[in-house]
Amino acid sequence: MNNLTILVPAYNEEAVLQQLYDRLTNVIENIPFYKFEILFVNDGSKDNTLSIIKKMRENDNRISYINLSRNFGKETAMIAGLDYAKGDAVIILDADLQDPPELIPEMIRYWEMGYDDIYAKRKSRSGETWFKKWSSSAFYRLLQKMTRIPIQKNTGDFRLLDRRCVEALKQLRETQRYTKGMFSWIGYNKKEILFDRDPRAAGETKWNYLKLTDLAIEGITSFTTTPLRLSALSGVVISFFAFIYMIWIIVKTLVSGEPVPGYPSLMTVILFLGGIQLISLGIIGEYLGRIFNETKNRPLYFIDEYNNEKESNQSSAS
Ligand code: UDP
Ligand code: MG
Repeated sequence: MNNLTILVPAYNEEAVLQQLYDRLTNVIENIPFYKFEILFVNDGSKDNTLSIIKKMRENDNRISYINLSRNFGKETAMIAGLDYAKGDAVIILDADLQDPPELIPEMIRYWEMGYDDIYAKRKSRSGETWFKKWSSSAFYRLLQKMTRIPIQKNTGDFRLLDRRCVEALKQLRETQRYTKGMFSWIGYNKKEILFDRDPRAAGETKWNYLKLTDLAIEGITSFTTTPLRLSALSGVVISFFAFIYMIWIIVKTLVSGEPVPGYPSLMTVILFLGGIQLISLGIIGEYLGRIFNETKNRPLYFIDEYNNEKESNQSSAS
């Protein structure tokens, strides 16, 4: 019998867990021939998420959980889950029911047909502001322009991954993770299915614009060095025009012997170049910071508890 793991990262999700459990079990009980593991990753929740999960586990042995030692963020919670998932395939599902579990049977069907990565693309995003939709679509267009790897638009982390993909993802141990890009980067046989994304069932989103901007910068800097190239390119273009301008000034001075005037042009050039330099330095800094973080080579996360057992973390996946 094939094993399937449903991986649910959860951070302060006490309000939806019961609902999630009901809908999820309802779905998987109608899927024959598979043994399910529901693996919760409690990402340092500050509410009762952990105790609710523990109670669920007492009544249902399909449930297992890992409790991270603090809040590491969804990206890290997911890799922790992948490290501990036992299934022949892993389905990543948000705790807040924005990813309808009812799609799971369809995903499994495609998996049986031989696809390795079946991802759910949203047709609509209800419950999100037009600004969020617009900024998200603008970001993906920008990212796609800068990289050769196809990045799926309107796709979250809701997907079924074959063991091969899971093993591949587990080898990408970078500390600052942009998992969405990694799914594309590893390749394999992909299949898209469409769905309508519901608003959150209960509780609140953990994202704010600061975090989203962070994720956007993460996405760009961890997948492409195009910004570095652009800053170099703008340096070349600007120097070229500066050179022409210089020649023009020299000729003008020789011909008409112009003395001091030229304050506005001087100021403009200095300010403009200063701006460009600061931007370029900032871009370099972004990459440098990432190099710094990667060279520390720290483990990605620590596990406090795995299925009622305290973890020592001495030989845990690093
Ligand atoms: N999540 C997490 N750690 C965090 C933030 C979020 O594990 O630091 C989980 C959260 O519990 C949920 C999923 O990631 O299962 C998506 O989070 P959320 O619904 O807040 O994001 P959105 O759907 O608004 O993008
Ligand atoms: Mg959500």
